[in-house]
Amino acid sequence: MATYDFKDGKQSVFVPESKLENMTLAFRKELQPFLVARKVEVFEPVRKGLIDLRKSAPVRTEKEAWEIVETTFKKHAPALQRISKRQWHIRWANACMTRCAGNCRFFRGEIRIAKPFAMKVPKEVLIDVVLHEIAHGFARWTNLDTPPHGELWQRKAREIGCSAKATHNYMF
Ligand SMILES: [Zn+2]
Repeated sequence: MATYDFKDGKQSVFVPESKLENMTLAFRKELQPFLVARKVEVFEPVRKGLIDLRKSAPVRTEKEAWEIVETTFKKHAPALQRISKRQWHIRWANACMTRCAGNCRFFRGEIRIAKPFAMKVPKEVLIDVVLHEIAHGFARWTNLDTPPHGELWQRKAREIGCSAKATHNYMF
């Protein structure tokens, strides 16, 4: 998680990235002279709270990212295999996947995660995205007609500890 210091000459206030994201652009502009980025390697907040990862450097290696992805997947893979009656695997998405953090091909039993995203976002965001895709598998194989981010998906997502948000705030 990136952190920022707001310095007004006397005080230094610790502001987590999540709070910064929610601030309006006007408010952020006002604060800009007092804003000292302590860790700028991860995020550069841009318009409408979107965070542009395109110019930022990775915060973890590919191997470290994969470890997070695989560990999260392995916890739920057996249950996913039971309900869908097929083998599941997870892999990196190919280079053409640049806006979607992950996707779930539920007939193939395949989940794909975007590598540049996985190497740059906070760990909890990465885990949430993996859980998001796993929840697609659970929801679809519970009811094939269920809408992608409908009630069933939301319930399954929460059951496995996912925030059940359908979008993220990152551009990459
Ligand atoms: Zn989704």
